[in-house]
Amino acid sequence: MIIVLKPEATERDVDHILDRLRELGLKSHISQGAERTIIGVIGDDRILQNQPLTAFPGVESVTPILAPWKLVSREFRKDDTVIEVNGVKVGGKKVAIMAGPCAVEKLELTVGIAHEVKGAGASILRGGAYKPRTSPYSFQGVGREGLDYLLEAKKQTGLPVVSEILDTRDIELFLEKADIIQIGARNMQNFELLKEVGAYDKPVLLKRGLSATIKEFLLSAEYIMSRGNRNVMLCERGIRTFETQYRNTLDLAAIPTLKELSHLPVIVDPSHATGRWNLVAPMSKAAIAAGADGLLIEVHSNPECALCDGEESIKPAKFKELMRDLRKIGEAVGREI
Ligand code: PEP
Ligand code: MN
Repeated sequence: MIIVLKPEATERDVDHILDRLRELGLKSHISQGAERTIIGVIGDDRILQNQPLTAFPGVESVTPILAPWKLVSREFRKDDTVIEVNGVKVGGKKVAIMAGPCAVEKLELTVGIAHEVKGAGASILRGGAYKPRTSPYSFQGVGREGLDYLLEAKKQTGLPVVSEILDTRDIELFLEKADIIQIGARNMQNFELLKEVGAYDKPVLLKRGLSATIKEFLLSAEYIMSRGNRNVMLCERGIRTFETQYRNTLDLAAIPTLKELSHLPVIVDPSHATGRWNLVAPMSKAAIAAGADGLLIEVHSNPECALCDGEESIKPAKFKELMRDLRKIGEAVGREI
């Protein structure tokens, strides 16, 4: 951290700051310029994050050098993290394709879609049993029994299951029935939920908040990891911008940026990122080209009648065609699909 002092800062101001740094166990290096004094803080200065240094007399600006996160950072771990989910690797050379309905509806429908996506080459089944809906009058998900439908689909297809948790009180249920626990965009900063899933080693798919910056996103991942859970996947799912033509704006630059800043696998959800089924294929291709480690795609056999997000769900035939195209893109960028 670099602390730049105002030209009028006195020796007493400097001593006051140095005393505080010493109290916090940090060393400092003083550079006395013609006009200004600059203090370089040596050591892990993350503890200064919550210290109001600009409140000290004589301080003009404070510039952190180290990122505010630690465990999620590339510096902490050079190699990509590869998370194993029931034999399926997420984060390695092979791109993980997670597909399935937005919401779990009926048993037969869930199992049917699971067979379709598996046949097309998906490696993980998605489906929400509990749905975080904007309106309290919208379908809220079938709840607990939805997780049993997913389990039956898993039994028949072998596909591990990712499903969203909304409530810390459901943790035992999800630990038992889901292979990956999804934290949705709306809960990215539900810190109690983050701490709860952080207490186990069950893989977590953390979605970027509706208007979250990369920094906030990584700090949420840090919440989970700081509790001990190292199996975190980051999911870019579009952010809210001024554009109203589509549901959200897919932040493609977030993919290489997250990969540069963090060792965690980066998954892209082109369905919620666009809200339109016809944009799912082009955005999936772009995501793989940009280095995504996985995709989370909504697939429904009858989108017109889907209870949730039919407008952004693609049919199994379209998904199959997309998988074929993705293999070619994957080959071009050195990935297997
Ligand atoms: C979902 O994946 O089912 C979902 C609700 O997505 P998001 O949290 O990204 O809106
Ligand atoms: Mn959805």
